[in-house]
Amino acid sequence: MKISNYINGEFITTTEWIDNINPATGEVISRLPRGTSKDIQNSVEAAKNAFPVWSKTPLETRINYLEKIASAIEQKLDALALAESIDTGKPVTLAKSVDIPRAINNFRFFAAMGRTFHDETYFAGNNILTTRREPAGVAALITPWNLPLYLLTWKLAPALLMGNTVVAKPSELTPTTAHMLAEILHSVGLPKGVVNIVHGYGSDIGDTLTSHPDVRIISFTGGTATGARISQQSSRHFKKVSLELGGKNPSVVFGDCNLPLTIKGVTRSAFLNQGQICLCGSRLLIHKSIADELIEGMKKEIATWKIGNPQSEDTQFGSLISAQHREKVEEYVQIAKTNGGQIIFGGKRPKLTGLFERGAFYEPTLIMNQKPDCPSVKEEIFGPVVTVQTFETEAQAIELANDTNYGLSASVWTKDLDRATRVSSQIRAGTVWINSWLVRDLRVPFGGMKSSGLGREGAYHSLDFFSEAKTIGTFVNPLPEETLL
Ligand code: NAD
Repeated sequence: MKISNYINGEFITTTEWIDNINPATGEVISRLPRGTSKDIQNSVEAAKNAFPVWSKTPLETRINYLEKIASAIEQKLDALALAESIDTGKPVTLAKSVDIPRAINNFRFFAAMGRTFHDETYFAGNNILTTRREPAGVAALITPWNLPLYLLTWKLAPALLMGNTVVAKPSELTPTTAHMLAEILHSVGLPKGVVNIVHGYGSDIGDTLTSHPDVRIISFTGGTATGARISQQSSRHFKKVSLELGGKNPSVVFGDCNLPLTIKGVTRSAFLNQGQICLCGSRLLIHKSIADELIEGMKKEIATWKIGNPQSEDTQFGSLISAQHREKVEEYVQIAKTNGGQIIFGGKRPKLTGLFERGAFYEPTLIMNQKPDCPSVKEEIFGPVVTVQTFETEAQAIELANDTNYGLSASVWTKDLDRATRVSSQIRAGTVWINSWLVRDLRVPFGGMKSSGLGREGAYHSLDFFSEAKTIGTFVNPLPEETLL
């Protein structure tokens, strides 16, 4: 496949290219353009020019576009899932059951919201105040490699619904489904310039996009360090910025948990998508009384997961995103070992043969007894490596759960509802699941506390973020002087 930038309704070729690698085999599968600052400037210009018409396009028409896009994605579900699996190394079954259905749902969900969304009206005597949401302008959507189409569409659907135009910058590691989405947008006849997609390295083009005076909104999902840079770059022009960043999420397991359910739940939370989901439970906090039993159960559970060819229907655990990322993961395992950590299972590359011998695979890994201030416990690894810590009291569990700079999510495993409520209310995280994990409902606000981000997206939070609130006061009979502050 030839991947190109999509600017002002045209697929633009380039002179410099980046190899796109299948991480499960190490093979170059395609090339993507190495976008330049000029590409960003052209895209912002195209988006700016498209804005006056798109922002005034009737809401019903914009909703119809979202529905058409959803249906077009649905028709290509299998091809998109395969492309996502090849680009990321994730099991194709995961892409088929989660990534692509969610991309479809993102458009359908926001299309439905568009139908029920209404302005606010306030009455003061005979006077009327109306607060309405106006499109903000050009929105920059910057996305990572772990859930490429899922996260791009999570931002794109509400941005378009609210009448903004868009410049999107997908991860250079996973460009294919963004390119296929550009083809879909083109095929449904979205007016030129409404959505522009520029591929390439964030270090080449990120600053031009985030500091551009004509970009009014930035929605970013990615690492905390990149988020901090974007925050600096964007501050001069007081843009609206939403930052969905990293996590180091605790799974807190009490002695009275439903053990079989918990074993399945925390194993999935630790290792789904090779541990490369921002919400993965990478710190396992276990009550001392059941630590051995839980760990033994996880060992047995993970042994049932098949590691290997991501495109095989019975694979549950694929490859990491790149050989470079695997090296980073390995470094953290080494650091844990030098800090006293014992490998309970995993801790090495699996022995795969044939095509996958050179893939970026790494075994699901559980480590315990490392020092509590070990970087492997403190920093986001974003791979299949989980550290174990034990506790004796509820207060200790809460202290350990909050002993992190991050605050994205947590899960609490107990049959005691009082305890679950008490503990979840004291954990500083944007989402806390009780006896479950990754149960997503698009109506609820999503985002993190502390270094996990700024702002919330989802449902009304997205509509609010991707718009400017304007209040218009119609004073039929002016209020008495003293009430006009
Ligand atoms: P990353 O920060 O390296 O890159 C994310 C995107 O930002 C990429 O498209 C990249 O090209 C771009 N980028 C890089 N430098 C930039 C710059 N200076 N200006 C503008 N854009 C720039 O992150 P990643 O490695 O792709 O993704 C992994 C991270 O994403 C993890 O930390 C993970 O926790 C986080 N994540 C968070 C969420 C969430 O919802 N909170 C969801 C998924 C992933």
